[in-house]
Amino acid sequence: MSDKPIILIVDDDPINLQILANTLKDTYQLKVAINGSQAIQLAQKEPLPELILLDIGLPDMDGYEVLEQLKTNTDSKNIPIIFVTGKNQQKDEEKGLKMGAVDYITKPIHPIIVTARVKTQISLKQQKDQLLSLAAHDQLTGLYNRHFLMDCITRKTSFALRQDTDLSLIMLDIDHFKDVNDNYGHPTGDSVLKSIAQLLQSCLRKEDIATRFGGEEFIILMDNCNQNIAQEKAEHLRKTIEQLKPDNIQVSCSFGVTQFNHTNDSIEDLIKRADLALYQAKEAGRNRVVVYS
Ligand code: GH3
Ligand code: MG
Ligand code: MG
Repeated sequence: MSDKPIILIVDDDPINLQILANTLKDTYQLKVAINGSQAIQLAQKEPLPELILLDIGLPDMDGYEVLEQLKTNTDSKNIPIIFVTGKNQQKDEEKGLKMGAVDYITKPIHPIIVTARVKTQISLKQQKDQLLSLAAHDQLTGLYNRHFLMDCITRKTSFALRQDTDLSLIMLDIDHFKDVNDNYGHPTGDSVLKSIAQLLQSCLRKEDIATRFGGEEFIILMDNCNQNIAQEKAEHLRKTIEQLKPDNIQVSCSFGVTQFNHTNDSIEDLIKRADLALYQAKEAGRNRVVVYS
């Protein structure tokens, strides 16, 4: 797979398409759509484009409408759009920019100008993605952080409500972690945290979300998964961690498990239940899984 940024070009005129493609093909990976519905389909299909060059006069719907539809979809709403169009009235440009296009290029196409403007937008998009990714991750472990988790739970609980699907939450906390720091030093403690984070990541499904919730506390969100399956998963993690011996240190974790309740549950309650179950696991002697009841 090429790691060139992907650009989606939408134009129904073969000559314009040809000029744009020739201008951009060496630097970017190109996808092409010749009407609005094709554009929407390609804009929401992984791997997503980093930028869309969108013509306004299209056979099935106009470019404004395409933009509007892309902006209301979670997959495509953050993809920057440049209008490339024969409409060169100031009011057309105003309308396009007001609707959320990042730039507006008028035909006839001047390759040097297109190249420069595309380069600017691609670089802005990449910087923005990088910042978003930094803001969503924990620096030490590379897992998602608490801030991201809260966003994610909001999205996942409303999805679970809408689609009537299960959602479970596992909270885990390293047992007597303070002793690890005290006995082996803080840098070794850090290294143990990283090893456990890595283990969580490698044991989970792609759609599960593992986050560092606090110091030595983690939360795992599991879609399409009731609390019985989550309990099995937690038990598997518990055993695997017990055998891990990171930096040659025997460590274990305690687990609290709960399931999203479709009638009248809040995110705070969901987390609180997992926390209570985790507390019970600690009280009962640690290195165990407790399902909230
Ligand atoms: P328990 O079994 O009850 O959870 O005991 P514990 O010692 O794990 O819990 P406690 O909350 O008393 O201590 C947590 C320790 O985790 C204290 C804190 O210094 C350490 N810690 C938190 N974040 C980090 C970190 O980023 N790196 C290191 N090395 N230690 C951390
Ligand atoms: Mg602990
Ligand atoms: Mg703790």
